[in-house]
Amino acid sequence: MRLEDKTVVITGGGSGIGRETARRCAESGATVVVADIDLSAAEETVAELRDGGATTDAYELDVRDPDGVRSVVDATAEEYGLDVMVNNAGIAHDYADMEEVPLDVRDRVVDINVNGVWNGCRAAIPHLKAQESGAIVNTASLAGLIGSPGSSAYSLSKGAVVNFTRTIAAELGPHGVRANAVCPGIVETPLVTGDREESEWEQLRDRMAENYPLGRLGRPEDVANAIRFLGSEEAAWITGHTLTVDGGFSCA
Ligand code: NAD
Repeated sequence: MRLEDKTVVITGGGSGIGRETARRCAESGATVVVADIDLSAAEETVAELRDGGATTDAYELDVRDPDGVRSVVDATAEEYGLDVMVNNAGIAHDYADMEEVPLDVRDRVVDINVNGVWNGCRAAIPHLKAQESGAIVNTASLAGLIGSPGSSAYSLSKGAVVNFTRTIAAELGPHGVRANAVCPGIVETPLVTGDREESEWEQLRDRMAENYPLGRLGRPEDVANAIRFLGSEEAAWITGHTLTVDGGFSCA
């Protein structure tokens, strides 16, 4: 996969899928801008990429803040250009029946997972349209495609990302710009492992893996490879697509 001379902005690039996407894009020759609400996590990612010879910057960014997102994207575009916007930052919430989910939890999830993606797209689109090229990749979830008991606010947010991505793909196509979403199944990242003891997590992981035809949960690189592909020129005629990356969970 070649991304030489391309610049990729990744929100939530300080951990998990976002960090691995940053690694993969840098490996493919891209300049990578890592933006995360956790600046030290973003800086850790960037330090690693820089050691590998990449051109890279870290920003502290809360994707809920439209002006903040715009200033990171504008600064990137001015310094390096902008080719790929990966709207990946997201949070989950404690499992609970829908009627037990507190409204402030629902609002926080929607604000980060939905409005954060909106803000990233809103900031990137003028640059991409102006140059008549580029791609947006939004990290949705399998929970945005199939029912996900206990995760109502999360599935509300990810379902929105799936269909929003189709809509912007239709709007952007005539401008030479693509937009796609990835829908991962359960991937081993801090979002899922949480504060669990390792042995507790391993037992839970093995139980959950039984529902996956490929016999394991996802790894960050499984999703990062899909994001990198959708951002690259190899995906030049793919837009408005929802790429399920789930080890076969949804077909079993
Ligand atoms: P993670 O917790 O490892 O990483 C998420 C990153 O987003 C963190 O670095 C965090 O600091 C950052 N972040 C959180 N809120 C932010 C905000 N307001 N502004 C900017 N950055 C913020 O989680 P992950 O599993 O790598 O998740 C990445 C994306 O993948 C999320 O959108 C998540 O919903 C999605 N996803 C994850 C899984 C999974 O099983 N891990 C499955 C499907 C979808």
